[in-house]
Amino acid sequence: AETWDTVPLAPPDSIFQLTAAYKADPFPQKVNLGVGAYRDDDNKPWVLPVVKKANEFLLQDPNVDHEYLPILGLPEYTTAAAKLILGPESPALRETRAVSVQTISGTGANHLGALFLSRFYTWDGPKQVYLSNPTWINHFQIFRNVGIEPLTYPYYDPKTIGLDYEGFLDSLRTASPRSVFLLHACAHNPTGVDPTKEQWEKIADIVLERKHYVFFDCAYQGFASGDLDNDAWAVRYFVERGISLLVCQSFAKNAGLYGERVGALHVVAPTKQAADRVRSQLAVLQRSEISNPPAYGARVIALILNDASLFEQWKEDIKTMSGRIIAMRKELHRLLSEELKTPGNWDHIINQIGMFSFTGVNATQSKALTEKAHIYLTTNGRISMAGLNTKNIRYFAENLDKVVR
Ligand code: PLP
Repeated sequence: AETWDTVPLAPPDSIFQLTAAYKADPFPQKVNLGVGAYRDDDNKPWVLPVVKKANEFLLQDPNVDHEYLPILGLPEYTTAAAKLILGPESPALRETRAVSVQTISGTGANHLGALFLSRFYTWDGPKQVYLSNPTWINHFQIFRNVGIEPLTYPYYDPKTIGLDYEGFLDSLRTASPRSVFLLHACAHNPTGVDPTKEQWEKIADIVLERKHYVFFDCAYQGFASGDLDNDAWAVRYFVERGISLLVCQSFAKNAGLYGERVGALHVVAPTKQAADRVRSQLAVLQRSEISNPPAYGARVIALILNDASLFEQWKEDIKTMSGRIIAMRKELHRLLSEELKTPGNWDHIINQIGMFSFTGVNATQSKALTEKAHIYLTTNGRISMAGLNTKNIRYFAENLDKVVR
């Protein structure tokens, strides 16, 4: 046999395939609702004004060079990033028992977190992680790659187009003690369905009772509600309750730095001594994986987080993005439930949060939207709210109305 004859052909990534089909479509009114990146009202990528400012500072700074960063990343970045997610008053920071590592965006944080658990978590049985059903599809491969078997817990209930709260609690209760649960910190991808604060409190109770380990994935801080503190609430609450956890953080969405790959992994350890040991091992892993992280995006974020006026400007920019998305949710809801009187209840459109929304549209209806109206979305009925704007929302609503009638 020739070399590579035994390599099976992998299927293309479904989201990237969707984008390719959209790009190839010559229809002028085509709509792309698959994209997982913010678009402005003209359907254009948006460079945040605060990022433009930070870029100017960096260009003028004579001390900027192209040397390697330290293995664990740019210290003024990781320190500020930890404060941003854990909160400036976090007991974990006060007691210097949080370990922060700069990573290749949120994906890299997920990978490093998974790799660290695979090597160092005291597994009572087989290496397994509980993922929400459904979840960001990449979670499955990320954990499998490091020898951790993904299991799922009930999360989304298609009947209510909301949270399967009882199912979720049940699996927290029945999973063997010290299981690892991956939780989306806010703006759950792909459903847009988050637990309420009261529900988070109950989840925390059971996690503590069963001594589970929490693997928080936080890819949308600030992007969801428009408020950085609000979107970090669950993480901070779990830290205050003394739950063992780690957090994966990404600045792809909230700073529009998708391609710069700027993220962090924060491990909250029970003591400073444990944190020091964890940090030393994370440095060994990081060294063999990427040697040291990329500098540019971390410099941009460090500038923004450490300068009061840039930080204020960033909060404005975040409000611009989240505000536009929330406005699109309201308008879509109004069009469907009031104007077009589309059959069914559409309240989930405004109850869900963040970039994505599970519409409740089935695979046949979703295919019909693509084939008849040139509207591109995944067959699970997920739409990216960022793909909607004042120019195409009516077209989308009218066609959605047609396929569900
Ligand atoms: N985790 C979740 C839930 C996501 O939705 C994403 C991006 O879509 C990521 C992690 C990682 O994204 P990135 O690696 O671009 O930061």
